[in-house]
Amino acid sequence: MFQPQHSSVLTVYEQLLAAFGPRHWWPGESKLEIIVGAILTQGVSWKNVEKAITNLKQTGNLDFSALLNMEDQLLSELIHSTCYHRQKTRKLKSFLGWVCDRYEGDLEQMLDNPTAELRRELLQLWGIGPETADSILLYAGNHLVFVVDAYTKRIFTRMGSVPQEIDYQRLQSYFQENLPPQPELYNEYHALLVKLGAEYCKKQRPQCGTCPISSGCRYYQEQENNTRR
Ligand code: SF4
Repeated sequence: MFQPQHSSVLTVYEQLLAAFGPRHWWPGESKLEIIVGAILTQGVSWKNVEKAITNLKQTGNLDFSALLNMEDQLLSELIHSTCYHRQKTRKLKSFLGWVCDRYEGDLEQMLDNPTAELRRELLQLWGIGPETADSILLYAGNHLVFVVDAYTKRIFTRMGSVPQEIDYQRLQSYFQENLPPQPELYNEYHALLVKLGAEYCKKQRPQCGTCPISSGCRYYQEQENNTRR
């Protein structure tokens, strides 16, 4: 029986980078825009977030004070495309209010905190889970934390690299323990995995035939073996 070659975490990164090129993430012109995007993208595709960010920009509201002081109803309307818009309004307001109280409204001051301390604080905020906290830390603050998401888990469980039941923390450690400690690499790798997960390693009908990392993928090789029988 065929035994797939085990691809190291770094090899997968190199294969993806060679196939897709740099992704230039996170799409955002300021730290505030990155953070707003990280909160709004929960549970929806980036296209939905783009519409909301455009609305905020066009109305001159992609600004810390403007967002903090805006009527909930109006903010909810401007970010309507991101689904769960009332909840996300509350999440944005809760985050901005906390930055205001704790860091005098200064995002730089907040992001200057040591990584573990800031991560702990972010995770205590309503509506901020590990993926959002880590996206803020890595993409807005250049902190050394690897962001994992549903795509990451799907890809690496299909590849046979990690068990199906792995949790967020253990999956994050798997990357952090096997990659050079470089925020730029973490940044690029997550973006590459998002592209792979969205366009190739789809939940239904993965496009293994054209996937750039199929040579090290257990799922693909099992499919191949089954069709040969
Ligand atoms: S070969 Fe198929 S299952 Fe494996 S990572 Fe690529 S798309 Fe996903």
